[in-house]
Amino acid sequence: MSPAASAPLSSAIEDMLAEVSLQAPWELTERFAQMPRCLPEDVNRACDLLAQRLQAHGVPVAVLMTRLYLSIPLRAAVSLGAQTLRAKPSSFSLGVPEGLEAELVYVPATYSASISTLFQRNTQPQAPAPERLCGRIVVSEGYATPAKMREFELAGAAGVIAINPGVDVHWGICTTIWGAPELDDLARKPRIPVVAVNHPDGQELIAAAAAGRAVRLSTELEEGWFDQKLPVAHIPGTDPGQDFVLLHGHYDSWDMGVGDNATGDATLLEIARVLWKHRAQLRRSVRIAWWPGHSTGRYAGSTWFADHFAAEIDEHCVAQINCDSPGCRWATEYRNVSWMAETESFAQSTIAAVAGLAAQGERPHRAGDYAFNNIGVSSLMMLSSTMPEALRQEKNYYTVGGCGGNIAWHTENDTLEVADPQIMLQDIRVYMSLVAGIANAPVLPFDWRALTREFAATLERYQGLLGADYSLAATQAQLGLLESALDQAYARMAAGRLQPAAANAMIRRLARVLVPINHTLGPRFSHDAASAMPALPSLALASCWSGCPPEHKGFALTQLKRGDNKLQGAFRQALREVHATLAS
Ligand SMILES: [Zn+2]
Repeated sequence: MSPAASAPLSSAIEDMLAEVSLQAPWELTERFAQMPRCLPEDVNRACDLLAQRLQAHGVPVAVLMTRLYLSIPLRAAVSLGAQTLRAKPSSFSLGVPEGLEAELVYVPATYSASISTLFQRNTQPQAPAPERLCGRIVVSEGYATPAKMREFELAGAAGVIAINPGVDVHWGICTTIWGAPELDDLARKPRIPVVAVNHPDGQELIAAAAAGRAVRLSTELEEGWFDQKLPVAHIPGTDPGQDFVLLHGHYDSWDMGVGDNATGDATLLEIARVLWKHRAQLRRSVRIAWWPGHSTGRYAGSTWFADHFAAEIDEHCVAQINCDSPGCRWATEYRNVSWMAETESFAQSTIAAVAGLAAQGERPHRAGDYAFNNIGVSSLMMLSSTMPEALRQEKNYYTVGGCGGNIAWHTENDTLEVADPQIMLQDIRVYMSLVAGIANAPVLPFDWRALTREFAATLERYQGLLGADYSLAATQAQLGLLESALDQAYARMAAGRLQPAAANAMIRRLARVLVPINHTLGPRFSHDAASAMPALPSLALASCWSGCPPEHKGFALTQLKRGDNKLQGAFRQALREVHATLAS
């Protein structure tokens, strides 16, 4: 793959890049490598250090006090006869300090071959019938991913043991509830104990299940509301408007969490320092936020921010950039990077210009600190650089969800050796150029035609699956109208015949319509569950159409019709935005 055409960087961005140094970020990485950042009091202590470092560089920082609902895993054990296996409780699973004993049942599942399928179920067809799970402790391969745990719970499982792929046991979280639960979400809170064990111990449990043996699980967690500090640096741009780019990452971690995410915190620190120093060369404002409650609260910090600054985000946020796990050893490629279609060409050309690398991205998973999809914000990046696939195979590494592919992810091994200063330097330069590139663009560098092309492909795929049962022709025609209006708008932008202010307002407002319709099912200002979110989710029933039993067809068609109406409504609204801009 050769690099995408790289747009030359502006002299302002070149000046900022020339200022980037490893001194401040590496010092913070080394300090965080000594500071566990999982317990709420430790997280607040880390915030104090971060705020102190920002202030030392003259960067004004507001430390917001949040109240977050968290589940702190304390200890777990699995007793198999006289043997006690090492285990970690999954955040938000039920604590059973007094222990729970039940017969084992094995549900075979495959491990994800890549990050693209990490959040899928991966259960095998030979899995036992759901009624076999009732009252038993399920043992199954994989991480304790939320949708899968929910299915086991709904099938009546008494508990779950997730067999992690290697010799380490990974921390994780198993609730599907995004951020602090609403009153109406409480019914979805996990009500069974869930633990993770390593692969060798998992093999013993599979054998025990085959022999019809029982195990005893005991887990301890502390769940409740905690006061957590959320630092935000506001770098004002020269533009008198209030539009801003949001750059963010989490600063709480499992244990020391160096590659996930001390390196990200350090990256944001250096960008804050440099942007503050060069703020006279910044057009739009930049807000840089470090989130608490990411690990133990299912993105509780970023979700709190989305809830409490909803109006400002809705009116003025032009893009959000997530920074997780940059600067890790061996991570020399940008592959499986998350970005929304409209931001792809900008992200690729920027990475090509800064790093000389071809970057390959994918539709963002319903994960990371993407707490802004329901409001509707154009988004790019989540995880950062990653190790080449060949190297991963050579090392016999399994798929993990961070740390640049290092399997130290979410374990005690995520220590200073996982960070690499030279790779961190490159990632800082990449993120710096992305954030400054958006902040300084006279017209926001987002191409909605890329998204309408994606929509056309999705509709074609869904139509193929629906066959003669349901026609998407009217929706496709509606999309065609939107595409030609966008063609006109972008042609006028390219010819300089559209006022930048009008173009920017259109680009920002389209995000409020087209991001939610492609990434959410719930209303704006709510938060969809943390489970797989297919493209154009209101029509996603098409994906399982062939498996729909005849007696359900009428209900399925009703659901499809309503989903289709919702989608067409969004296309009409987007079209009105573009027409209004063309008429201005
Ligand atoms: Zn992370």
